[in-house]
Order: sequence, then structure tokens, then C-alpha cells
Amino acid sequence: MEKLIKQNLELVRRQMKLACQASGRQPEEVKLLLATKTVPIEKLTMAMQAGETLFGENKAQELRSKFPLMQQYEQVEWHFIGHLQTNKVKDVVKYVTLIHSVDRLRLGQALHQQLLKENKTIDILVQINTSYEESKFGASPESAWELVEQLSQFETLNIKGLMTIGKLGANNDETRHCFQLLKQIQTDIKKRQIARVELDMLSMGMSGDFRVAIEEGATIIRVGTNVFGQRYLPDGYYWNEQAHDED
Ligand SMILES: *Cc1c(COP(=O)(O)O)cnc(C)c1O
Repeated sequence: MEKLIKQNLELVRRQMKLACQASGRQPEEVKLLLATKTVPIEKLTMAMQAGETLFGENKAQELRSKFPLMQQYEQVEWHFIGHLQTNKVKDVVKYVTLIHSVDRLRLGQALHQQLLKENKTIDILVQINTSYEESKFGASPESAWELVEQLSQFETLNIKGLMTIGKLGANNDETRHCFQLLKQIQTDIKKRQIARVELDMLSMGMSGDFRVAIEEGATIIRVGTNVFGQRYLPDGYYWNEQAHDED
């Protein structure tokens, strides 16, 4: 198993490099985040031992249970990549350095209130629903700039970029279109020169489409299956919760 994870990582790293070469980018421009939902701690440890340091969880509870076990590894950094309910922000800001999935003002408010209490700031990305699928969270491409502008009023939130989930199971062109759209939105919002907004990070690309995402400008890709193997829970469990919860 250990060998397998190491081999998987080597393959992903090699593919990342090739995608960078193919699109005239430097390999250092693209970070690999390992998406670890449902992945047991033994496998996380193997990835750690293979030199990986960046991990992302989708649920506050799972993050809370894995965090202490991984704390012995100093370089490990956690991001939050899942749908975040406002009543879970307290847990999440305790453990992560970056939240990829801020997709509504109400969540920004909840984060801000919590961070003020703790006298802290946090880096965030704004999630955009570039595939226009009902089942996906994220602000609509049309409302993206307004949300970024509204969120920028919260001085505890450092807006570092944008995140999207490409259209899954689609052909390459459709998926590529999602990533191109995110890049376009980034360019448009940057032109508006909103105070305190940097927007240099683009979190896009997963196991099935990270090469396309890199070609289209991803600076951080989120990979799970290609490294850890198939998950036993469908992604709908994480992405399509019936409850658009409390807000
Ligand atoms: C699960 C997940 C990933 C990784 O997906 P794989 O297809 O397993 O690589 C990436 N991003 C988010 C938001 C996820 O929930």
C-alpha cells in the first residue's frame, strides 16, 4: 500500500510537470493539494512520508478527527475545500490556513464574526459555479464580482483567489470551458481593482481534469482518487446535500 501511494504520487507529479511544460508554465507555479475525504489516517501518513504537506478536507467533523493525528508532522498544512455551514466556522478556522469554498455573503459574515472574536485573519478563495449545475455550490459567474466586493469589506478575510469544480463526466471541451471561465472571471475582477483583494490563486482541477486545469492557469489542484484510490461514498454526499442548510 505504501508503495502504491508513493507510485501514485510520482505519477501525478509527473503529469503535473508535463502539463506545465505543455503550457509553458513553471512547475513551481502549481501546488498539489491532496483531497482526503474518507481517506484513513494510515494513508495520509504514507503521503506525508512521501513528502506531501498540503491536505484538504470537506467536512469540519472529519477535519477535527484527523487534525490531531497529523499534528506531529510540522510541515503539514490543512485547507478546507468543502461546503461550509455557518455553524461550523469555529472549528474550521481553528485548523486551516485557507478556505477554498466561500460562496456566499452570509458565510463571510459568520467567518468574520468568529475571527474578530479570536483576533485572527484567514485566507480565503471564493467558490464559483462555472458549470451552472444545480448540484454544485458556488456563486454564479455573473454575481462573482459583487460577492468578492462584498466580502472585501470584512478585514479579517484575505481574498486570495477563486475556486471552482469543473463539469464532471463532461467532455474535455466542456470542462476546459469551466476553467477558462474562472480565469476570465479572475481577469475581470482584477480589473476592478477592489481594495485588499489579490486574487492570484486559482484552485481548479481534480483527478479527472487537473491537466486541463493546469493548461488553463490553475495554481492549486485538488487530487484525491488518483492518489488514494476510489472512495466508497459518492461525491454527491459532499456536494449535493439536500439541506442548503441554515442559510
Ligand atoms: C473530493 C474533492 C476533490 C478531489 O476529487 P478526486 O476526483 O478524487 O480527485 C477535489 N475538490 C473537491 C472540492 C472535492 O470535494
